[in-house]
Amino acid sequence: MTELVTTRSDFDTVRTALSGQIGLVPTMGNLHQGHLSLLERSTSENDHSIVTIFVNPTQFGEGEDFESYPRTLETDIECIKRVNDKAIVFAPMTPKEIYNQKVVSDISAGEIGNMLEGNLRPGHFDGVLSVVSRLFDVTQPSKAYFGKKDYQQLKIISNFTQSNFPNIEIIGMPIIREESGLAMSSRNNYLSKDEKDGALKLYQALSYVEKTLLEEKDLKKAQAIIQDLMTEDDRFNYLSIRTQHDLTPPMKVKDKLVILGNYQMGNTRLLDNIEVDLI
Ligand code: AMP
Repeated sequence: MTELVTTRSDFDTVRTALSGQIGLVPTMGNLHQGHLSLLERSTSENDHSIVTIFVNPTQFGEGEDFESYPRTLETDIECIKRVNDKAIVFAPMTPKEIYNQKVVSDISAGEIGNMLEGNLRPGHFDGVLSVVSRLFDVTQPSKAYFGKKDYQQLKIISNFTQSNFPNIEIIGMPIIREESGLAMSSRNNYLSKDEKDGALKLYQALSYVEKTLLEEKDLKKAQAIIQDLMTEDDRFNYLSIRTQHDLTPPMKVKDKLVILGNYQMGNTRLLDNIEVDLI
């Protein structure tokens, strides 16, 4: 039976009774196949899997969608059950179950947290690390699963975990897309049919830059294409080629690059990326 736990003290009781390898899948809920792919992998690699469902206030900025973020706990639990009917679901009733008294962001993501998404959402990654650190403390996993959909987040969490939780292994999972190519996201629910079609522009742009890099191995040309795409369409909040290693801009075509983009569709900012291995 999938077990739903909503308080810290109940969770501690459940956690104490677990032994063996523990897989953690942290989410904000409104689950789709992207999230479930992480749970599938965790289920196959661990004795127990814990899914957390928590819309973390400290990673939302002023004017962002914290209040309106889709909360669909019942259907989420049904989805989890279908993948793993023994999974433990920790959905804290209030932020205090995770943060104790002070619901604050108190970990800095440093320089890498200020670029790209961090530039659009100041303090966002500090909030992400603040919650991830607490989730690791509470759940004590052997492995934790994150999607490459949030590429910068995955990098920041991997670095942080290496330094602060060296016993936890971070597993980065491929992006799950709709048939159209659109990366699955809970925020796609905000889009109308027309906006969903329009949102494909992001994946198409990333794919075009990828093709140029793969076929021509010409960084300057790929960057010029990006410049044109951004000039033609001001809905790109950014579109950028970076090194996979530390997300800095590459000086020349390196083996492992990633093209990252953020695209504005109405009030919704959509995020996507494609890794390019030029080997
Ligand atoms: P979220 O609920 O948006 O915080 O996402 C929880 C986890 O699911 C994060 O590690 C995301 O990167 C991952 N995730 C979200 N969408 C996808 C997707 N389309 N493919 C793979 N992983 C995803």
